[in-house]
Amino acid sequence: MSELRDTARRLLDEGAVQVVIGWEAGRRGARPVFVTDAAGCDRLIFDARCVHDLAVFLNPRRSQVAALGRAAVVVKGCDAKAVAGLLREAQLTRDQVVLIGVRCGGVAAGPEGPEPPALTADTAAARCHGCDVREPAGVDLLVGEPRPEPPVTASLDERVAALDALSPADRLAFWTAELSRCTQCYACRQACPLCYCERCVVEKTEPQWIETSSHARGNFAWHLTRAQHLAGRCVGCGECERACPVGIPLGLINRKLQQVVYELYGYTVSDDPTVPAPIGAYAVDDTQEFIR
Ligand code: SF4
Ligand code: SF4
Ligand code: SF4
Repeated sequence: MSELRDTARRLLDEGAVQVVIGWEAGRRGARPVFVTDAAGCDRLIFDARCVHDLAVFLNPRRSQVAALGRAAVVVKGCDAKAVAGLLREAQLTRDQVVLIGVRCGGVAAGPEGPEPPALTADTAAARCHGCDVREPAGVDLLVGEPRPEPPVTASLDERVAALDALSPADRLAFWTAELSRCTQCYACRQACPLCYCERCVVEKTEPQWIETSSHARGNFAWHLTRAQHLAGRCVGCGECERACPVGIPLGLINRKLQQVVYELYGYTVSDDPTVPAPIGAYAVDDTQEFIR
């Protein structure tokens, strides 16, 4: 913790950045904090409560954050992947941000309390299962000691496989029931670091592509659109599902799309921004199945 706080203090003292975006302890777990002076650096923490993907604050939709000046952002490995996505898609330039990477031992699925939880198979976040980026890549500064691997949790792959094993009718029934609870509040979109369109397709009214009242037809249209727009881009940070007030298992949709993109293009979301994603790269031997 002291290494993280000292690093942040030095960056602010030297004028390298005007704000450090990290986590602080709150009554109900960790929460994002914006530190703008050296004295505030003692508020910074990093432990299993620090679930938020702070890359969302580098999203160009957050102009009020950009107005604070050059930022240093504390990132776990999975958050660094989201930053790489913004760099890959030219929503950010590398000199705009200082990345302070933290070595990670996993985070809790939540909700969290005032103390760091002990991670067990039941309390660790699904996204941490088999994580291979616990030491973030592409960061400017790396802090913290190596941490033990998070415990094995019920993997998203197993849950997706269980859904795949259902008949199409049963799978449709499952998603119809789940999506019927969606209120189209768009908290999932707001929490996503890679959802950055200045004007989301659901807000376009002439023509209106998606019905925005909360009923089956509009809800399906919204979720099919959201999933497709994030295919090959979603980093699996789980923030959309965590933000959903009605508990829709969006991670299952995201994971399924990751599997499909891998099957079609051999692509897994990379933390290297120079590796092109299928959505932005075209090759003559691309599969044409989608236009059959
Ligand atoms: S996915 Fe990896 S880097 Fe992200 S919180 Fe879990 S263990 Fe840490
Ligand atoms: S769709 Fe969800 S899991 Fe994927 S990057 Fe966005 S917030 Fe994270
Ligand atoms: S956060 Fe949940 S309820 Fe709100 S739009 Fe997204 S899926 Fe629907």
